[in-house]
Amino acid sequence: MVFPTPDDGAGPNPAEAPIEFTSDTFLMEQALRQARRAFQAGEVPVGAIIVQGSTIIARAHNQVETLRDATAHAEMLALSQAQEALGDWRLTDCDLYVTKEPCPMCAGAIVHCRIRRVIFGVGDPKGGAAGGLLNLLQQPTLNHRSEITPGVLEAESLAILQSFFRAAREAAKEKRSSPTQENPDLS
Ligand SMILES: [Zn+2]
Repeated sequence: MVFPTPDDGAGPNPAEAPIEFTSDTFLMEQALRQARRAFQAGEVPVGAIIVQGSTIIARAHNQVETLRDATAHAEMLALSQAQEALGDWRLTDCDLYVTKEPCPMCAGAIVHCRIRRVIFGVGDPKGGAAGGLLNLLQQPTLNHRSEITPGVLEAESLAILQSFFRAAREAAKEKRSSPTQENPDLS
């Protein structure tokens, strides 16, 4: 989140501008915080939160490696948390914020849970199911459709993914160039 800096006093002081706790940008920043936690845990950095009214009822980050579970995407974990919090699988008046466009698995689950609105950061033209590769969130033949808001904090959501994969590539390169140092017992 970019905090405004005080100006020369000529106009209204932007530092006094109220912070909108329910704005898409503010809420996506909360999802980005989750993505940063994934990064620190060595997971592909994707974060998600679910909001009902002005309350965040679920926060999760990708945990595929930690849980050794290919279904442990941020959205799936957040949906489970939200269902538990509400004691209901119907999340009809809830909105899901996720830093990357949902994959087909997550989009399917989002429709099953009847999420009202999906807000995402960076799109995924190769694998996204919210309009990127396909649009499972708005299939006329399914019994629920979610509103979609793409591109909220898109640059930040992309940057964290890029720096993760750059670091992963560099680590892999280092490993290849010094195999005996990595596994001294095998030499
Ligand atoms: Zn997914």
